[in-house]
Amino acid sequence: MRHHVSPIELNGTDDHLAGQPAPVPEEFLRALAALCEITTDLEATAEASRDWWPLALHWSLAGAVPRRAAVVARPRSTDEVAAICALATTHRVPVTPAGGRSGVSGASLPLHGGVLLDMTGLHGIGEVDEISGIVEVAAGTFGPDLEAEISSRYGLSIGHFPQSFEISTVGGWVAARGAGQFSTRYGKIEDMVVGLEVVLASGKVLRTGGAPAAASGPDLTQLIIGSEGTLGVITRVWLRAHRVAVHRATAAYRFESFIEGIEACRTVLRSGATPAVLRLYDAIESTRGRGGNGTDCVLLVLDEGEPEMVEATMALVLTACAGATLADPGLVDAWLAHRNDTSALQTLTHKGFVVDTMEIAAPWSRLAAIYTATCEAFSSVPSARAASAHLSHSYPDGACLYFSFAASPAPDQLEATYIAMWDAGQRAVLNNGGNLSHHHGVGVNRQRFMSEALGEGLAVIQSIKDALDPNGILNPGKLGLRSAFGPAQWPRAAASDTP
Ligand SMILES: Cc1cc2nc3c(=O)[nH]c(=O)nc-3n(C[C@H](O)[C@H](O)[C@H](O)COP(=O)(O)OP(=O)(O)OC[C@H]3O[C@@H](n4cnc5c(N)ncnc54)[C@H](O)[C@@H]3O)c2cc1C
Repeated sequence: MRHHVSPIELNGTDDHLAGQPAPVPEEFLRALAALCEITTDLEATAEASRDWWPLALHWSLAGAVPRRAAVVARPRSTDEVAAICALATTHRVPVTPAGGRSGVSGASLPLHGGVLLDMTGLHGIGEVDEISGIVEVAAGTFGPDLEAEISSRYGLSIGHFPQSFEISTVGGWVAARGAGQFSTRYGKIEDMVVGLEVVLASGKVLRTGGAPAAASGPDLTQLIIGSEGTLGVITRVWLRAHRVAVHRATAAYRFESFIEGIEACRTVLRSGATPAVLRLYDAIESTRGRGGNGTDCVLLVLDEGEPEMVEATMALVLTACAGATLADPGLVDAWLAHRNDTSALQTLTHKGFVVDTMEIAAPWSRLAAIYTATCEAFSSVPSARAASAHLSHSYPDGACLYFSFAASPAPDQLEATYIAMWDAGQRAVLNNGGNLSHHHGVGVNRQRFMSEALGEGLAVIQSIKDALDPNGILNPGKLGLRSAFGPAQWPRAAASDTP
């Protein structure tokens, strides 16, 4: 069974954020200890109170976590989760669910202290319906444990392979609305969920979905997917599975410009073809181990499944790429071998760089304008060093652009520069017709954009939150929602210290 992986060294246990955590009464702690395994150990609670949000990695090196949880609780069953939620609602103590803590937006950080609910105690595969291809899995199961068991015992695969596959859990995938690297064939996680078991703040247990389609009111499964632990705690998930692919084919192409490459990807998707992997790198990213020469843009293609389907798909890709030159398909193998290596993030953080990624989705017709405007916006921030993008997930009507950016500010300007980079990049996307996030979610980092991105939609989500969680105990201070435990914790004084 997998375990948590620390994002970087933690050189202390201070709180980085100002303000006080929510009070946690002794009586509550005693009752919690009677329900499940808990710890209040200083180092264990600090370690559990961080994720992979790149800004907070700098705080870790400086000896602080954003906010330390008072207690880590590790339930092992739905009943235990239900009892914890009911107890926390009664005592008005914050509860922040966490899976692998691999989020990059700060979504699992216990911003107001209280309970860090470690969901990895609920793990393992349940019933498998081999006839329908449906797998029941406990929410705290890590990716490799899930895939290893269903492929070895049943010859099945879910097909959800995020770059963080080894360090993330099924519950985290669902709560954060994630996307795997093979999503152009198998879809995002929201396309793979048949149904959910969810514990509400009251302690009541909700079951959603269960059929391939329904017309019985709004879709409650989709309401919970992407709610980032604010509406309920996911305890069990039923996922669609397909047979492990028997055949694979790969190809690579070079385009003279990123825009020409985008047009070829659009043509592929508009033809009805859905190659599992269709990754187009701009000129900068093509030079980073993708075989680019500094000006060309490399497209990597991989498909898998029944040989007839794969060959037809690859033929449609070849037709769509008529204006490109063929490149070495070995580039795809190199990508497969190194695709989950994230060591650059830690290296650059140690060197004091501000570095992060921003993934968004937009219709095909908007992508060229978004690419140009967003790279320019990142580059306009003082001390910006790099801005680049690749196209990583495609749909009939549009695609995801995944931007990477870096800056090298003076140490006292690090946080302000990080905020300025995100303000510049995210607003360029929104102003040019893109959305807020494709798969990294909102967490702490993107809360300030929620109102402009969702408009009246945010008030609707707030009303649902208020109805389901009247005391506001579940993951307070996230998703742009009002917190019952005080004002937003971050960013502090963003306007005054902008560089
Ligand atoms: C190097 C790296 C690469 C990444 N690549 C990808 C990628 O390719 N695709 C992608 O989609 N993401 C990617 N991510 C982001 C992250 O891994 C995903 O968001 C992932 O789905 C989070 O899963 P987790 O189990 O770690 O959740 P956590 O980080 O622990 O939590 C994420 C959110 O889900 C909530 N949550 C967790 N479990 C539950 C539960 N059982 N019930 C209710 N709420 C819950 C938390 O409260 C939090 O709001 C990457 C991250 C890293 C560090």
